[in-house]
Amino acid sequence: MNRRDFLRLMALGAFSIVVPAELLPAGGTPGKRWAMTIDLRACSNGCTDCIEACHRIHNVPDIPDGNRRIRWIWTSPFEALFPEQPDYRRDLKGRSVMALCNHCENPPCVPVCPVKATFKRDDGIVMMDYHRCIGCRYCMAACPYGARSFNWQDPRPFIHAIDKDYPTRTKGVVEKCSFCEERLAKNLIPACVEACKEKGLAFGDLNEERSQVRLLLASRQAMQRKAHLGTKPKVFYLL
Ligand code: SF4
Repeated sequence: MNRRDFLRLMALGAFSIVVPAELLPAGGTPGKRWAMTIDLRACSNGCTDCIEACHRIHNVPDIPDGNRRIRWIWTSPFEALFPEQPDYRRDLKGRSVMALCNHCENPPCVPVCPVKATFKRDDGIVMMDYHRCIGCRYCMAACPYGARSFNWQDPRPFIHAIDKDYPTRTKGVVEKCSFCEERLAKNLIPACVEACKEKGLAFGDLNEERSQVRLLLASRQAMQRKAHLGTKPKVFYLL
């Protein structure tokens, strides 16, 4: 059966795939609950250092066609990211604000995946298994944050300089930010946090009382994107 027939049958509900629990991927760092803060006071309008660092080390292609672009981190006007609060903090209106996967505590993208290609680790990171992904894009439809991109074509010709330490993806696969899980495994902070000269980004463990993110959240007012949806984003915007 080819991919098209498979997807057609899936859409018709003709069958579903049940993956045995012992085959499901898990992992991560038990006991941790990773989170990020984005300081809107420090984050400099128009700066793209975080995006460039992330996209360079993760082999994210630079595709000129806006309908086919791939993005792990991006910027949008404040009011586009927080449409439910158009009049809140008028001074931020039009301001370019960074966005990425929120690694939601209740990620709506996970239960809709028919092959468990996307899953939440013990430490809360929402992962993608590129080899398992069948390109149905249910996860993209379920994500209310536009945090996922689909490879409509082979991305490799659009990567400026392929980093051999990180896998490239293929046509027909969904991808997104992974909170730099490959760097966390080496006790490194995410590349975007490291690249921010303004020190506008912080990353840490919500379970650790003295972590920088906990201290920032205790001392500053913070917002999450579309918090009313109950997804519990773990990316916080400090006001
Ligand atoms: Fe899933 Fe979107 Fe939440 Fe990321 S932001 S965990 S892709 S629902």
